Amino acid sequence: LCVEPRRFLLARPIAPPGRVFVDPTYRFGTTQNGEREPHHGVEFVNSSGTPVLAAAAGEVVVAGNDEAESYAEWPFFYGNLVVLEHELPGIGEAVFTLYAHLSEVAVTVGDQVAPGQPIGEVGLSGVATGSHLHFEVRLGENSYAAVQNPELWLAPEQEENGVSYGVLAGRIEDGEGRPIYIPNLVVERLPAQGEEPLWQQYLETYVDPGLIPPGDQGENFALGDLPAGWYRLTFVYRGLQVREVYVAAGRLTKVTFTIED
Ligand SMILES: [Zn+2]
Repeated sequence: LCVEPRRFLLARPIAPPGRVFVDPTYRFGTTQNGEREPHHGVEFVNSSGTPVLAAAAGEVVVAGNDEAESYAEWPFFYGNLVVLEHELPGIGEAVFTLYAHLSEVAVTVGDQVAPGQPIGEVGLSGVATGSHLHFEVRLGENSYAAVQNPELWLAPEQEENGVSYGVLAGRIEDGEGRPIYIPNLVVERLPAQGEEPLWQQYLETYVDPGLIPPGDQGENFALGDLPAGWYRLTFVYRGLQVREVYVAAGRLTKVTFTIED
């Protein structure tokens, strides 16, 4: 377990009264139980016309649609989209943010944008089942394979009492250090260690191993905007596995669970 003073370098691409929280039913790397493609971004479910905001200062490198050039596995997937290129402090390579399924695009290639500047509007262009913003973070190159979990980049929101939410990232691996796919990871919020849960949600670890950052530290799940406190994680792999972890406010709490044979 370690708590990193990670700097969350990106702001939300949606502002209140829009929905600023990530859709918990289709997080990065998940498939909605095999119903959809492994997700390369996160969703902000909002109605068409909701302003979409630049997550950081940057330059517009794509503004239009993916008819002629594909930014996913197929053309016509993201519909109208914007991609920004950022130089972020302490990150030695370019960072790209991608905003897809827009109804309107408000910038053109070459524009410099300020953080929070409107760059378009939410829509359902391309392959979208309803109005939402699909948001991606790409590291090093503007490619579908270079995505990172946006929940590790977005600055946590604050609870009503002004305390920042925390972020939990984890790696579940076997005795040889290989990440394990867990289709049903149960995350329970505990009022205190060992007590009965206040709520629970289900999570899938990254289905596609290509989405796990390389090296022996890369996470295969992450959850942002968690109220600080104790959580219980339960999953089945070589029997029932139960772990409790404390998520710190405003920080990245990183855990590795090694399941020996
Ligand atoms: Zn999406």
